[in-house]
Amino acid sequence: MISMPLQPVPEVDEILSTAEAVALPMRTRFRGQTVREAVIFQGPAGWAEFAPFSEYGPDESAQWLASGIQAAFQGLGAPLRTAVPVNATIPAVSPSRVEAVLARYGEAVPAVKIKVAEPGQSRQDDVDRVAEVRRLLPRAALRVDANGGWSIPEAVAALGDITQAAGGLEYAEQPVAGVEPLARLREQLATAGLEVPIAADEAVRKAEDPLRVAQLGAANLIVVKAPPLGGVDRALDLVRQAGLPAVVSSALDTSVGLTAGLALAARLPQLPFACGLGTVTLFDGELVDEPLVPVSGTLDVPTQSGQICAPAPVPELMQRHRITGPRRRWWFDRVRAAHQVLAS
Ligand SMILES: [Mg+2]
Repeated sequence: MISMPLQPVPEVDEILSTAEAVALPMRTRFRGQTVREAVIFQGPAGWAEFAPFSEYGPDESAQWLASGIQAAFQGLGAPLRTAVPVNATIPAVSPSRVEAVLARYGEAVPAVKIKVAEPGQSRQDDVDRVAEVRRLLPRAALRVDANGGWSIPEAVAALGDITQAAGGLEYAEQPVAGVEPLARLREQLATAGLEVPIAADEAVRKAEDPLRVAQLGAANLIVVKAPPLGGVDRALDLVRQAGLPAVVSSALDTSVGLTAGLALAARLPQLPFACGLGTVTLFDGELVDEPLVPVSGTLDVPTQSGQICAPAPVPELMQRHRITGPRRRWWFDRVRAAHQVLAS
């Protein structure tokens, strides 16, 4: 059992008094949606975001609200580093499209995450895509992300072929679904003499998960996101308890919300891998003047007086992307429901 650290919860009216619901258009469909909606609010420590995915209920959403409350009311803390390395991402495209996707990320890309195990595609499709990335970037660290799409035997076979095509993999992210299957896969990889580090991503969503992954030896490292784990301080604590290296990833946040992920990456005592925080490029619209877009494979950590702080939204941009009517009420009701969980 993991205890919730006691953080004062402001009144819900105080949160809602500055809140706006917004919808940012996306360049590509994500979770079946072409817009990403969020509530943006402000407290004495800065701007914050509340954007649990629409199917999440009050208990899960409460973690996201706790994360926003930390950003707005307690602050995101002081960084241990001024910039964070960020990976490029190659979706499950054909090899001929890889070069164009990589071109968006500029010259210096420290690491590339390549999507694999896409439904309807073959192992050879994955191998060809990875080989093309390696051809174009002989020195970048390559990792694959299967989103839990393989069975254990499929993962063993695919990771063997892909490791060969890549000339070594940095790690494989969630090759199979769940925590126990990851542990079994690691045993089978060891038996097969395949040394591929395994990262748990989808298996780490709730506060209990990092410790379970560590206890079962299910992964070499964990992928963590600040909002679903209840905010930066809580996520730091969970990573410390798990005792595994962590890669920080975005929850498809706007530049305001992404600052929490960036704060987590900037405050981890060790950060051995590039992070999955280059996601603002997926939006076709912004709320801030200087979006958190990586330059040469790094994101600068935004600070104010030495404390990590989200860039302030621009009123005209907030106005442009504002949601009104019943959908706005629906979002505000979600804030109230999540707040009730936190306050009880
Ligand atoms: Mg992943």
